[in-house]
Amino acid sequence: MLWHSDRNLDMNGYALINNAANRWFGGKLNATVLLPLFAALLLLVIWLGTLHLIGVERRNAERAAIESSADLIRTYEAQVIRNLAVIEQTLKVVRYAHDVKENDLSLSVLTERGLLPSSIIFSVDVADADGGIVSSNRQNAGNIADQAHFRAHEGNVNDSLFVSKAVLNPATSERELHFSRRLNRSDGAFAGVVVVSVDPAYFTSSYEHSTLGRNGVLALLGTDGVFRALRTGDRLSFGGSVDYPAATQSDFSSDSGQRQVPVNPWDGVRRFTKARQLHGFPLAAIIGLSAEEQLGNYYRTCNKYLWQASLASVFLLLVFGVLTRLSWLLSRSQRRIQADQARYYAAAEASLDAFFVLRCVRDQRGMIVDFELMDTNSRGEKLLGRPKAELLGASLVEFDPQCRENGLFAHLADVADSGKVHEVEWKNRSGSLNGEWLYRQVVRIEDGVIAIVRDISERKRLQMQIEYQATHDTLTGLANRRFLQDRLAQSIAYASRYGHPLWVAFIDLDRFKFINDSLGHKVGDTFLRIIAERLQSAVRATDIVARLGGDEFVLVLSGNDDDDLPSNNIQRIMDVVTQPLDLDGKDFSVTCSIGVANYPADADRPETLIEYADMAMYRAKETGRNNFQFFTATMNERLNERLRIEQELHQAIERNELVLHYQPRVDLRGGEITGMEALIRWQHPELGMVPPIRFIGVAEETGLIVPIGDWVFRTACAQNKAWQDAGLCHLRVSINLSARQFAQPDLLQTIKDALRETGLEARYLEIELTESLMMSDVENAIHILQALKELGVYLSIDDFGTGYSSLAYLKRFPIDVLKIDRSFVSDIPANANDAAITSSIIALAHSLELEVVAEGVETAEQLAFLQQRNCDVVQGYYFSRPVPVTDFEIL
Ligand code: C2E
Ligand code: CA
Ligand code: CA
Repeated sequence: MLWHSDRNLDMNGYALINNAANRWFGGKLNATVLLPLFAALLLLVIWLGTLHLIGVERRNAERAAIESSADLIRTYEAQVIRNLAVIEQTLKVVRYAHDVKENDLSLSVLTERGLLPSSIIFSVDVADADGGIVSSNRQNAGNIADQAHFRAHEGNVNDSLFVSKAVLNPATSERELHFSRRLNRSDGAFAGVVVVSVDPAYFTSSYEHSTLGRNGVLALLGTDGVFRALRTGDRLSFGGSVDYPAATQSDFSSDSGQRQVPVNPWDGVRRFTKARQLHGFPLAAIIGLSAEEQLGNYYRTCNKYLWQASLASVFLLLVFGVLTRLSWLLSRSQRRIQADQARYYAAAEASLDAFFVLRCVRDQRGMIVDFELMDTNSRGEKLLGRPKAELLGASLVEFDPQCRENGLFAHLADVADSGKVHEVEWKNRSGSLNGEWLYRQVVRIEDGVIAIVRDISERKRLQMQIEYQATHDTLTGLANRRFLQDRLAQSIAYASRYGHPLWVAFIDLDRFKFINDSLGHKVGDTFLRIIAERLQSAVRATDIVARLGGDEFVLVLSGNDDDDLPSNNIQRIMDVVTQPLDLDGKDFSVTCSIGVANYPADADRPETLIEYADMAMYRAKETGRNNFQFFTATMNERLNERLRIEQELHQAIERNELVLHYQPRVDLRGGEITGMEALIRWQHPELGMVPPIRFIGVAEETGLIVPIGDWVFRTACAQNKAWQDAGLCHLRVSINLSARQFAQPDLLQTIKDALRETGLEARYLEIELTESLMMSDVENAIHILQALKELGVYLSIDDFGTGYSSLAYLKRFPIDVLKIDRSFVSDIPANANDAAITSSIIALAHSLELEVVAEGVETAEQLAFLQQRNCDVVQGYYFSRPVPVTDFEIL
C-alpha cells in the first residue's frame, strides 16, 4: 500500500478524470468541481433542445390551425353568399312582380311558377304602405308597421337591402331574420315592403364538429356590430353586439411574433378567428377554431417533452450527484493518503533507524524466490553505502548473495508468509552492510515486509563494557566478588559432575596498608596490579583469580580425581607473591596470609566456601601472618561461638560477668610501674574466660559497647581510686575507647560523671584512641580531644603504625602518649625493617614531645633494643600479663 497506491485499481477512474482535468485546467481544477459543471451543461442542452422542439411543435400546430381556419372561412363565405343570393333574388322577383301587378300581387302565382324558394326555409311576406300583410307564402296576416325594417324602409327612399336583427315572431315564437326591400308605387311613393324571413340557425347549420370542434365559432355579424347568428359549438345565440372592426380584424400568426392566440371579445375564448365582409351585404362571416382544441395535440406533445426532459434532468442530477460525491470522497481519501505519505516520509527521514520496504517476488507456484527493494530512507542509504536511486528496485539475492546461507532470506520469507513480527540482533559479517552489530525488526505488509534496521554497535560496546565492569575489578581486571560467585558456582557444578575436588584460597596481603601509606595510593595500585598478574601466572588458565577489594584475593583451583592439592602448591603461590619487587626504585616485599577451603569436603556452596577460606585466612593471620591454613571444623565452631556471643553479650553486664584485668606499664629509666592498662574480659559460665578480641567487635556492631564502655570507665576509675585510698600507689589507669564510644555526643559527660562518682582525679586517667578513630572526621576529633584535654585526662594513640594516619596530623592532635603497635615490637631486633620503623617512631614521638610506650614486649632483647632507642615506657608479658585486681595489688 505504501508504495503502489498509484497503481491501485480503485484509483484508476478517478486518476483518469483528474488527469484530464489537470490537462484542461492546468491542474487547478479537479473532478469535484468539473462534474457539476458538466452536469449543468448537459441540463442546459437538454432543456434548450426540449424548448426548441416545443417551439417548433407549437408553430406547426398553429400553422395547421391557421390554414384550416382559412379554408373554413372560404367555404363558409361562399355558402352564406349563396344563401343571401337566393334571398336577394327572391326579394327582387317579388318587387318586380309588384311593380308589374301593382296592388294585385299574389305570391301564390309566383310560387306556382317556381319563382320563390321553398317556404319551409324562406318565408316571404308583402306588406302594404300601412304595414298590413297583404300577401304571404305562409298564411301570415297582421301588421308590421311597428317593426324596425318596415320603419326603416318607410322613412328611407333608398332602395337598399335591410337586414334586421334576430327578432321574435309572436306567431311562431321563434327568432327570425328579416331581409327586406322597399316597394314603390309607380310614382316612387312608399307602397310597402317585401320581407324574406329566415331562421338565423339556417346560416350556421353548416357547423360541423369534425372541422370546427366542440367550441368553434360560426357567425354572421352585422356591420352594426350585432350578431345576426352566432354559433359556438352547439349553442346558438343572437343579438350580442361587439366592436365590429375588432371582431373582424382578429387575425393571428405566430410568425409575426404574436405569442398568444387572441381572445374572442364575445365570450373570452382564444380562437383562431377569420372574418370576411360579405360583398354587397351589410354582413360579415366569421369562423373561429378554439385554440385549446386546435393545440390539444401540441399541448400533449409538449407535456410529453417536458416530462421526458424532467426525467432526464432528475436522472442526470442523480448520476452526477453520486459521481460528484464519489469523486469528492476519492479526492479526500487521496488527499489523506498524500498527507499520510508526506507524514510517513517525514517520519521515515527523521527516524534514526534504517528501513527497507521489500516486495515479495514469487514464482508460478506462489513461493517467494526473492525480494525487491521498493523504498528506503537516508539511514538505509548509509547502512548500505549506496544512494537510494541505485537501491530502488534492487533484488535482495543480487544485493546480498549470502542471504540464503545466513538466514536473512528465510527470516524475511517467514515474516511475509506467517505475518509474525521478528526481531533479532546480529553481528554483521556481510560485506554489503555497514555496522558491527545490527538489530532488525521485520513486519509484514501487503505482499511484502518492512525491515527496520538499527546500528547497535555503540550500545553493544557499551553493554559489553558495562557487563565487563560489573563483573571485573577495574584496577586489576580480575573477576570481582559477584563474578567470582557465578564462576565458582559453575566450577562446583562441573566438579560435582566429574567428581573432582576444588580449592578456594583466600589471600590477604600482610600489612599492605603500609605500602599505601608510605608510597601513596598510586604506587599501592601498581603494586596490586603486579600481584594480580603474578597470581594469574601462578595458576592454570581454567582456574579463577578474583579480587574482592583492598588487598584480598581469591583463587579457585580445580584438581583432578587423585590429585590432592598439595600444600606446596599453595606454598608456590605464596612464594610468587612474596618475591621482592621494584617500586619507585626501591625493593619491596610483602608477605601474605592464605586460608584454604575445599569442595566437597568443607562445603558445597560458593558463599560458604569463600567464607570458610576467609576464616582460615584469619586463622593464618592470628598465627602470626605469612603462612597458610586449611579450614578446619573448629574454625567453624568459632563462628558458631561468635553467634552465641552475639546472643548472650547483652546479659553479660546484668549477670555481672565482665571483669577488668590490669597490665602494668614499666618506666624504662626508673624501672618502676608508672601506670596500667585496663583490659576487659568476659567470664562466661560455659565458654570460660572470653578475650576481648572475641566480643569487642560484636559489641561495637550491636552498640553494646556503649554501656560496656560506661561500665569499664566506672569500674576502672573506682578501682584506681580504691587503690589510692588504700594507699597502695598513685598510678595512671589507661582505658581503651572504641570508635562507637568516641562518636557518642555525651562522651565527655560520661567521663565527667565517672570521675565525679568515683572521686578520681582526672590526671590519673588516660584514654587510648586508635588512629582510624580520629581520622574519619579530623576537625571534630580535634574538637573532642581538646575538650577531654581541658578535663585534665591524658590521651594516647594506641596501636600506632597500623592505621592510615599521616604523621603530619599528629601535630594537630593534643595527645600525650604514643603506643607502638605490638606487631613492630614482636620482630625486633631481628627484622631490620621493623627495627627501623620502631626507631623512627620513637624519634618522631620525642621530637613532638610525646611519651612513647612500646607494647608487647616479651623478650629481654626487645627490651634492650627499646632501652637503647630511648623508649620511655614498656608494656608486655616480659613484665606481666594483664592480671586480675588481686594479682595486680601484689605487683
Ligand atoms: P590493645 O589495646 O592493643 O591491648 C593490648 C593487648 O596486647 C592486650 O590483649 C594484651 O593482653 C596484649 N599483650 C600485652 N603484652 C603482650 C605481649 O607481650 N605479647 C602479646 N602477644 N600480647 C600482649 P587483650 O587483652 O586480649 O586485648 C585485645 C584488645 O582488645 C586490646 O588491644 C583492645 O584494643 C581491646 N580491648 C581490651 N579491653 C578493652 C576495653 O575495655 N574497651 C575497648 N574498647 N577495647 C578493649
Ligand atoms: Ca590498648
Ligand atoms: Ca595496643
